Amino acid sequence: MAFNSQDRYSRQILFTPIGEQGQCRLSAATVAIVGCGATGSAIASLLARSGVGTLRIIDRDYVEPSNLQRQVLFDENDAAESVPKAIAAARKIAAFNSQIVVEPKVSDLIPSNVEELLSGVHLILDGTDNFETRYLINDYSVKNDVTWIYSAAVASYGVTLNVLPGETACLACVFPDSPRGTFETCETAGVINSAVNLVASIAATEAMKWIVGAKDQLRRTLLSFDVWRNERAEVSASSPRAECRVCSKREFVHLAGQARPHITLCGRNSVQIHERQRPVDFSEMSARLKPHGIVRHNEMVLKFWHEPYEMTLFPDGRAIIKGTTDTAIARSLYARYVGA
Ligand SMILES: [Zn+2]
Repeated sequence: MAFNSQDRYSRQILFTPIGEQGQCRLSAATVAIVGCGATGSAIASLLARSGVGTLRIIDRDYVEPSNLQRQVLFDENDAAESVPKAIAAARKIAAFNSQIVVEPKVSDLIPSNVEELLSGVHLILDGTDNFETRYLINDYSVKNDVTWIYSAAVASYGVTLNVLPGETACLACVFPDSPRGTFETCETAGVINSAVNLVASIAATEAMKWIVGAKDQLRRTLLSFDVWRNERAEVSASSPRAECRVCSKREFVHLAGQARPHITLCGRNSVQIHERQRPVDFSEMSARLKPHGIVRHNEMVLKFWHEPYEMTLFPDGRAIIKGTTDTAIARSLYARYVGA
C-alpha cells in the first residue's frame, strides 16, 4: 500500500522549522542507530515515522520477554521466537512506514567492522548500553567528522549529548575515562520506560534539527534529568577540551581496537563470544548439538539449552552464552559445542 508522502507527513510539514524543504532533507538522510534496545528502538520508531529515508539499525542481540516493558518496536511473538532485534525492528517499521529503507545489521559494532557498518552514514545515534561501544563510535565520529548523539537511560535517569566533531565537546572530553563500575546499569538498577522515551525523544529531536539544517537550534550541553525525582541538570559542552586525547591529540585507541577482547561480558549473567568469523550451518549444527541438550533454530538464530547454560548462536558464528559471567566457562562451552 503506497500512501501519498505529502499526506503522510502533512502535520510535520506544517511545522514551519521543518516545512517542505526539511521533509526533503529527512527523506534524503541516512542515519545509523547503534544498538536497538530501549533507547534505540524508541529513536528508530520516531525517526522512521518522521520519514528519515534510510535507517541502518545495528544490534547484536535478540528479543527477550524482559525487553517488552520498554522496547517499543517488539512484541510477544518476537520474544517467543528470539528474533534478532535488528530484524524485528525492520519488520515492525515496514508495517508502519514501508516508504523508507531500513538496513538491519545483526552485528556487534567492533573495531574490525566499524568502517563497513558506518560508512555512508550522515548521522549516528547511540542506542547502546556500554561505554566501550560509545568510545568506538566517538573515535569513528571525530576521525571522520560525522556528528553523533550520545543517549543513555538507567533507572529513572536519562542523559544525552550532541557531539559535533571539532565544534563541541566529544564524549572523551566529557568522560575521559569509562565510568564503568561506578555507574549503575539497567541490569542492576532497572529502568522505567518513561525515562527511556524522554531521552529518545530529545535525541530524535536533535537528530531532526541536524538533518533539516537547524544547526543554531542544536543543544550544546550535556543534558540529564531524573523523571522520578523531577531533577534536571545541564553542563556546558560547547567546545572541545584542549587536552582531550580524541579531539585534540587525535589518538583513536578504540578504533585501533587495542586490547579489545573477543569475549565480553554482556548483561548481568551472560558472555558474548565473537572469536570465530565464519558462517555456521544451522541444520548441521542443530544435528550435532541434539544429543547434548535441547536445540531450536530458525534462519536467524540457533538456541541450545545445556543446563544451566543457554547458548544463542548467530549465523556469523557469534554467540551469547547465558547462565555465567565466567569467560573461561563460556569459552570452553563454545569450543566444545561449536568448535574453536
Ligand atoms: Zn574530545
